[in-house]
Amino acid sequence: MAVIAFIGLGNMGSGMAVNLVKAGHSVRGFDLNKDVVNAFAAKGGKPAASVLEAVTGADAVVTMLPAAKHVRSVYEGDEGIIAQVKPDCVLMDCSTIDVDSARAVGEAAAKAGVKFVDAPVSGGVAAAEGGTLTFMVGGPEAAFEAAKPYLEKMGKAVIHAGDAGAGQAAKICNNMLLAIHMIGTCEAFVLAEKLGLDLQKFFDISSKASGQSWSMTSYCPVPGPVPAAPSNRDYKPGFAAPLMLKDLRLAMEAAGSVGAKLPLGAHSEALYTAFTEGDGADKDFSGIIRMIADGRAR
Ligand code: NAD
Repeated sequence: MAVIAFIGLGNMGSGMAVNLVKAGHSVRGFDLNKDVVNAFAAKGGKPAASVLEAVTGADAVVTMLPAAKHVRSVYEGDEGIIAQVKPDCVLMDCSTIDVDSARAVGEAAAKAGVKFVDAPVSGGVAAAEGGTLTFMVGGPEAAFEAAKPYLEKMGKAVIHAGDAGAGQAAKICNNMLLAIHMIGTCEAFVLAEKLGLDLQKFFDISSKASGQSWSMTSYCPVPGPVPAAPSNRDYKPGFAAPLMLKDLRLAMEAAGSVGAKLPLGAHSEALYTAFTEGDGADKDFSGIIRMIADGRAR
């Protein structure tokens, strides 16, 4: 079995790394936070003292880091992952970052003759632990084929989106659509209630009519119709509003860079900014329904 370096053992990375251990791989884990490295070691991982120690001689490297600056700092430069791994090693960055940074890291790897893919995920902490993530992968065909067997151990779907950066592009387009769907679904429930409709009845109708979406049928923002949805537990995340805001900012930044005018995407970003700066900082993104119901959304 392969030797894998896993950098970033946070909320998502910890579950993903354990799934690689369960698949029989030897997984060296590194994180700036020693507590999560120790927790990983207790689950069969091999603790590493630095990025360099983790990646030296590894067959594959997975990174799951907060943002582009962290990703670039571990991959680039003379001490970076690209310069330090053996030539046949495959590199997978599963963090959500901007398209341009993903392309820049992809180009640096290609220049060095190392296989790299951007492979952001859809699915939250439960999917990371359960091995049911969806991976959207950008990079050359050979890098995708080399990465696929590892990603399959952490997810239920691994889809090649295109060249370097295409995984990140697909991720932010999808999540912008999700934000728009969610806000629309919340507005529909708020109006339904004000018009005196029974909300379960409205759900029964709309979930089988043309207003149907994942936000409605899998993640309903009002309590009751979908028992597993965060609306049934006071909007405890789930998918936290600040993470949705991060993805919307990346989407709007990308839109600006290609001159795309997206009024609903821009308005969604404004609404999630207001929600996150208000009482939504520790709430699931579907909790925005309260701001809309209270008439605080503009
Ligand atoms: P997190 O903050 O819980 O984990 C990130 C980890 O990276 C932390 O433990 C931190 O100590 C570590 N880290 C930071 N810089 C480092 C460095 N230089 N070297 C080693 N370790 C370093 O974040 P998370 O929720 O696990 O999210 C990770 C990524 O996945 C983000 O890009 C996020 O947008 C994306 N994502 C998260 C979710 C979710 O539901 N949490 C869902 C989809 C995608």
